[in-house]
Amino acid sequence: MNQNSYPSPATFTRAQSAALFETAQTYFPGGVHSPVRAFKSVQGPPVFFERGEGCHLYDVDGQSYVDFCCSWGPLILGHVHPEVLARVQQTVASGMSFGAPTPHDNLIGKLVLDNHRYIEMIRFVSSGTEAVMSALRLARGVTGKSKVIKFEGCYHGHVDSLLVKAGSGLVTFGISSSAGIPESFAAETIVVPLADPEALESALKQYAGEVACVIIEPVPANNGLLLQSAEFLRFLREKTREYGVLLIFDEVISGFRVGFEGAAGLYDIQPDILTFGKIIGGGMPVGAYAASKEIMQHVAPVGPVYQAGTLSANPVAMAAGFATLTELLKPGFYEGLEAKTAAFTGRLQAYCDQKGYEVTFPHQGSIFWPTFTRETIHRSDEIDDSRMRFFKVMHLECLKRGVYFGPSGYEVGFISSAHTDADLDFAASQIEASLDVVFS
Ligand SMILES: *Cc1c(COP(=O)(O)O)cnc(C)c1O
Repeated sequence: MNQNSYPSPATFTRAQSAALFETAQTYFPGGVHSPVRAFKSVQGPPVFFERGEGCHLYDVDGQSYVDFCCSWGPLILGHVHPEVLARVQQTVASGMSFGAPTPHDNLIGKLVLDNHRYIEMIRFVSSGTEAVMSALRLARGVTGKSKVIKFEGCYHGHVDSLLVKAGSGLVTFGISSSAGIPESFAAETIVVPLADPEALESALKQYAGEVACVIIEPVPANNGLLLQSAEFLRFLREKTREYGVLLIFDEVISGFRVGFEGAAGLYDIQPDILTFGKIIGGGMPVGAYAASKEIMQHVAPVGPVYQAGTLSANPVAMAAGFATLTELLKPGFYEGLEAKTAAFTGRLQAYCDQKGYEVTFPHQGSIFWPTFTRETIHRSDEIDDSRMRFFKVMHLECLKRGVYFGPSGYEVGFISSAHTDADLDFAASQIEASLDVVFS
């Protein structure tokens, strides 16, 4: 077992992290390889980690933390799970990539397809973004149409035509939210609010003839946790069918997280195309898209929709994914994780209620979102951005006490099977102490 040395407000330091960050900023834009890692919306330099084990992170200053970021979702078993590690080590010794099929392809393919009732064929790629990009191309290839409807507040990776925000109005053409995206790409995207059946139907009515697909995060978890009702998701399914538009569930975050069959299984809704990432790679860079045999027949080399990848389905990544998914199929896995999450958020909620703190902890499965309001939030425009100042204080106070959250109040927390009751007790006490500072 590890000797954890949690920091305290009196001992907490980021001296080594700060020095590394200083250098990193001279090498990499913003010192990082993905923007949120730069700690722009919280305080101080990013923490540099040396090691992870179970639910613990160990930083370069010799301090440990209970990890609620879990690499932004993939680590549902925690860090270096013994079965995952063993399988990866065994595989890596035989070669990391062949650019050719290996038996690992079939192993993970069978495991996923045999245990997921909503898909019949799957193609592996190397990231969630790549999965979504390919799924859009597939939807466009199948339908021969070009426009896409997306929801404001859903994130689908950094795909050009989806890196858009809504204009003013219920149904709008996307406005690119990044430089470097031609307005003509953004104009292929129609943006509608979540949880708004009228806006969705009016977008479909107006544009159905030009729309290839509607894409949604069925459990929107990249802009807070904007839980949708089962009724709304069913309405979305019925209307897309009625208007002859394909429905893509982007399950990069919810897939294998809210159940092995993800949100499709949770709500028992059959989408036309599904995308995966995060957990499916068990911590390695993997994404995938999947659908019925009929739709997947459009993908090259069988069909005309081209998509390829030098490192796609490399055996090491497939081994990590296979070992991870195998654990998830063990009886009671998801029930245990959900019960732990409910107990943890329940304790924190009771504390906040008793103290009169305006905080809630919406959760779904093992995803939770600490949010500084008492309102139930279903749409991104219902989030009061000014209240993120509270998160900023909580984030630093939690760091000082050995609890690591992703560095933004718009990000959700994840609980892994490696979080023990004792770890969660410790973390809850530290979060409570941090909230006392926030509201002092
Ligand atoms: C993380 C995420 C992506 C992007 O995946 P990357 O592996 O970061 O490219 C896409 N869609 C959703 C829903 C995600 O959560």
